[in-house]
Amino acid sequence: MYSIEDELKTAKTVGITGHIRPDGDCTGSTLGLYNYIRENMPWIAVDIYLEPIEKHFEFLAGASDIRHSAENDIIYDVFVVLDCGDTSRVAEFSRKYIENAARTVCIDHHVASTGFADVNHVCPDVSSVCEVLFELLDSDKISRSTAECLYTGMVHDTGVFKYQSTTSRTMEIAGFLMNKGIDFTSIIDDTFFRKTYQQNLLLGKALLDSHRLLDGKLIYSFLTADTLKEYGVIGRDTGGIIDQLRFTEGAEVAVFMYELPDGKIKTSLRSVHNIDVNSIAGQFGGGGHLRASGFTTGLKAGEIVEKLEELVKQQL
Ligand code: 5GP
Ligand code: MN
Repeated sequence: MYSIEDELKTAKTVGITGHIRPDGDCTGSTLGLYNYIRENMPWIAVDIYLEPIEKHFEFLAGASDIRHSAENDIIYDVFVVLDCGDTSRVAEFSRKYIENAARTVCIDHHVASTGFADVNHVCPDVSSVCEVLFELLDSDKISRSTAECLYTGMVHDTGVFKYQSTTSRTMEIAGFLMNKGIDFTSIIDDTFFRKTYQQNLLLGKALLDSHRLLDGKLIYSFLTADTLKEYGVIGRDTGGIIDQLRFTEGAEVAVFMYELPDGKIKTSLRSVHNIDVNSIAGQFGGGGHLRASGFTTGLKAGEIVEKLEELVKQQL
């Protein structure tokens, strides 16, 4: 069976990255692997590259070591890309490392993972990349710090262990990580549920401004860049809004859009039951999973909604 231990046995230098706008699973899996290597493979010089992470993940071990630019021209023996199956979704500054590395490894769980790396360990049925990664590690060598990283990613990509992708194996692994002495209550409360007052106000605004189509089966909300600015919330800190939209009675698909500083619109899609939102996001050049996907487009919000209404209707 493929294992990280075997993969890195002869490596002297390892680089790690994940996708742009890193979420909990991306942050947890990249830092989890980073800590595991530092703690168990002292012969390896390991670097981690990501765009800035969300503030509530900064307590994770190694967070302050994350590099946000490509400062050197090192050619890594092995470069590992986690939670990202498409090199167009890694931060631009880390792309040259992937191109130049002697060997590349992709550890992912996206349905449409492209297989760009030399080794592609992709498990679309597994709820989080942290869970995929756990299976590739020697569990006895997982420290409390590494356990915190993996648990955080699992919490975020399973919506606190409740999305359909959650399995009994997910819970077994979570239990194993709990036994490492992690503060699981704080991880869930502080990184998943806790919002700033401003974020809560913005959630209220997004709900007040939401609209429904197709007899309430499609619900959407859009926040302009000006509104985000007014509330002092940056786009990536809008997590939670899409979840609340999803919980609207009668909704089959929830859509949350916000305008990026360059005028493009970042869209999140969530399916409540059977609608395949991965294929819908694909129509806009994005992707993700069956029930959770996203895309970024130059289309106007009204155009996005019109197109989405048609695509959802086709599947109803
Ligand atoms: P979110 O809506 O939380 O940003 O993303 C939900 C899921 O869709 C995540 O698994 C994420 O990786 C995927 N996703 C979001 N935006 C994009 C995108 O622009 N392209 C692709 N391929 N996947 C995306
Ligand atoms: Mn993920």
